[in-house]
Amino acid sequence: MDAPFDTGCVFCRIVRGEAPAHKVHEDELTLTMMDIAPVTDGHTLVITRGHYDDMFAAPAATLQAVATTAKRVAHAIRTTLAPHGLMVFQLNGAAAGQTVFHYHLHLMPRSEGQPLALHARVPGDPSRLAELAARLAAAMDGEASPNAEQIAYWNESVGPTWVVRDELLDGQIRPLGLHALDRLALVPGERVLDVGCGCGSTTVEIARRVQPSGSVLGVDLSRPMLERARRRASEARVEGARFENADAQVHPFPPASLDVVFSRFGVMFFADPEAAFRNLRAALRPGGRLGFVCWRGIAENPWMMVPMMAAAQHLTMPPPPAPDAPGPFSLADPERVRSILERAGLVDVEIEPCDETLTIGGSGTLDQAVDFLLDVGPAARALREAADAGLRPRVAAAIRDALAPFHGPAGVRMASGSWIVSARRAANPSHV
Ligand SMILES: [Zn+2]
Repeated sequence: MDAPFDTGCVFCRIVRGEAPAHKVHEDELTLTMMDIAPVTDGHTLVITRGHYDDMFAAPAATLQAVATTAKRVAHAIRTTLAPHGLMVFQLNGAAAGQTVFHYHLHLMPRSEGQPLALHARVPGDPSRLAELAARLAAAMDGEASPNAEQIAYWNESVGPTWVVRDELLDGQIRPLGLHALDRLALVPGERVLDVGCGCGSTTVEIARRVQPSGSVLGVDLSRPMLERARRRASEARVEGARFENADAQVHPFPPASLDVVFSRFGVMFFADPEAAFRNLRAALRPGGRLGFVCWRGIAENPWMMVPMMAAAQHLTMPPPPAPDAPGPFSLADPERVRSILERAGLVDVEIEPCDETLTIGGSGTLDQAVDFLLDVGPAARALREAADAGLRPRVAAAIRDALAPFHGPAGVRMASGSWIVSARRAANPSHV
């Protein structure tokens, strides 16, 4: 599983998240980023995740993956920048002009009349590189996606905040994910998909449970969260975990390739949940299991309700979304959950309530919990959408008052309500 790595190599350090780069796309075998010293505007590199000096050292399968990625990047460059031409080249050995000895393919947009050059010596404008990376990434994973709104939300709006808050957030909902995982009774050797894996805590836990010889693929729409997830898996030194930026509703998973599909609060955001679960069912082998945890209604989740009511004293709350609109409470109605899963072709649907007292925003002071809730959850969302910095202190004071009765030696402890849901793909081929 571990790809070759060279500690002295700057591209290897970028792959590991130890050196900065304007990344466009990552998958199992390749990474795409803006060339830091672009020869032309939009100059992009596709590199192998593993360290191979050049084309001679890289395995053919890896080079095929590079070609597949390059085709998508080329398309994204064409739709985003509409250059007159696109030059694609790859250099092997100093005599050929190679300067970084880790395999990489250049994609260089070209205009008519532009002089031909292979390398520039001047670093590009970082803000322009960041903008191009974001636009190419959007062109690659957002094109015609039914979940484009969620993709934007999890990449631009909340993704970066959740990465910063990851430890606290993960600590808070960790027991709920573990209940759902325990229900699945994973065994070594199983192949698992972790849907909406976010910052990867559950993916790492699953990898531990299916070792040796099992594997887990974490998918999410949020690039910043996936970067955190990859770092976490590499720090945890678990085998068999990998991550992909993919929309589980439409991603072409290999048919019948999985033993288990799991999610911790990652399945409530699909624009078309029935289509999404049908896609996930097709990825399960006959007899394969599905298990997830999702929120019950907001009234059964005081940890979200109480701060939201407090914030409502100072903020105009957005109108409540339609009960089946994508969002944290879209699967709150168990009859709706059952009907979606059964219409998607799953059987043996079981839905059990889980009531758990959560420690909000870590076991620290009241102020730390308030600070956390100003970043994460429905009150945070309303505050963000109000976009008035002057409101923050007043909302903070109101939330602080509302939380005070729940604060004790173990931090702020509040009730939560969720569903632990399980189902299967029918084992009998006549029912598939
Ligand atoms: Zn390298």
